[in-house]
Amino acid sequence: MQSLYIHVPFCAKVCHYCDFSVLSAPERLYEDYLNLLQSEMRVMFKKFPSFATNSKTLYFGGGTPSVLNVKQQDRIFSALSLHGLNTPSLLEFSMEVNPESCFDDRIENAVAHGANRFSLGLQTFQEDLLLRIGRSHDVQTGLAALNKLIAWKAHGVSLSADLMFNLPGQTLAHFISDVCFLSEQNLDHVSFYGLNVSPHTVLGSRVRRGFERIEEADYEPMYLGGVDALLKAGFERYEVSNFAKPGKESIHNKNYWSGGSYLGLGPGAHSFVDQVRFFAPEKYTAWREWVLSGCPESTMEFDPIGKEERLTEKIWLSLRMAEGLDLMKLKKEESILIPEKAIQPWIDKKMLIRVGDHLRLQGRGWVFMDSIIEDFLVRNIPV
Ligand code: SF4
Repeated sequence: MQSLYIHVPFCAKVCHYCDFSVLSAPERLYEDYLNLLQSEMRVMFKKFPSFATNSKTLYFGGGTPSVLNVKQQDRIFSALSLHGLNTPSLLEFSMEVNPESCFDDRIENAVAHGANRFSLGLQTFQEDLLLRIGRSHDVQTGLAALNKLIAWKAHGVSLSADLMFNLPGQTLAHFISDVCFLSEQNLDHVSFYGLNVSPHTVLGSRVRRGFERIEEADYEPMYLGGVDALLKAGFERYEVSNFAKPGKESIHNKNYWSGGSYLGLGPGAHSFVDQVRFFAPEKYTAWREWVLSGCPESTMEFDPIGKEERLTEKIWLSLRMAEGLDLMKLKKEESILIPEKAIQPWIDKKMLIRVGDHLRLQGRGWVFMDSIIEDFLVRNIPV
C-alpha cells in the first residue's frame, strides 16, 4: 500500500523534550513554507506520480498541523488535488491536533476535505507536569479540545489521543489516573510513549545539569500499568505503544510497520520507496535551500537497505506488533531460521510466546523488546 505524509514544521512553542524537526515561528513564515511545499510537491509527484494518484492514506503530522488556518489548509488541499489526490476518497486521512490550536473552523474544513481521523496531543492531565515539560496548553485547554473533538465523532471521524509517561516528577498514580480518565472518554485509539530524553533539548540540558531527574525504574510499572488499564477498558494493543478499539487501528501507521511504501513531504520527512529510504534536509533553512534548488537528489540522504539491515528492520517491526514475527515467512523471504537456543530462554522467562508460526511478545517482554531483538541479531543469527 502507498501512503503520503506531510510534515508541518511549526509549533506554538517548542516543548522542553522535543527533538523533532520543528520551530516556533511567526505566522508569516507559514506562507513561505506553503510556497516551498507546493514546489516540493511539483518535483516529488513528477518523480513518484503514483503517490498522488494511488495513496490510500494521508497523514498531516508535525510539528502541529492545526497551527495552519483554513486558508492555509486550503492551499495544501488545492495543491494535492491539482496533482490528482482526491482527499475525500482516501481510506484514512489523519491530522495531528494540539489543544491550543484546536479550532472548530479548522477541524470543520479538514473534515470537509476528507479528514476522518484526528490525533490529539494531550500528554498528561497534570498541570504541573505540563508546565515542567514545556507544553503550550494547560489542563483546561486540553479538556476543551478533547470534548470538541469527541463531538466531531458524530460526523464520522475517528479520534485518538496521546499520553506520555516516565516524565520528570510523574508518579505511577499520576500516569494511571491519566490513562484511566482517557479510557473513559469516547475515544477510538490511545497512544502512550515513554519519555526519551535527547541531550540536545532543554530537558536534556536540565537533566545533565542535575535540575531534573528521570526515574528509569518507573518505566516498567508505568508501561505495564497503563497497558492493563487500557485492556480493561476494551482497547486492544496492536503495537507496543498503540491501542485501539476493535477495527480502529491506524491504517497509515500499520502501513509503516508492515513495510509498505510512503512518500514524505516537508522538512526532514522520511520516505520509503522501492526498498530505499530517503529524507529531505531536516533544518528548515536547509530544506528551504534544497527546495529552491529543485530538490536535487545529490543533497538528499539516501539509505539503501542491505540484507542485514532489512532483516533487523523486519524483526523489529514485526515483534512490535501484536501479530508478532512470522518465523516461516522470515525463513521463506530471508532464508533465516532463528535458532531455538535464542528463542527458548525468552519463552522460559514468559516474555515471548509461540502461537503457531508466530513469535509474540508477552508480559514484560513488551518492555524488553529491544533486548530480545538484540539477542536474536547480535548473538544468534548468522546473516
Ligand atoms: S507539540 Fe510535539 S512537535 Fe511540537 S514542540 Fe511539542 S513535542 Fe515537538
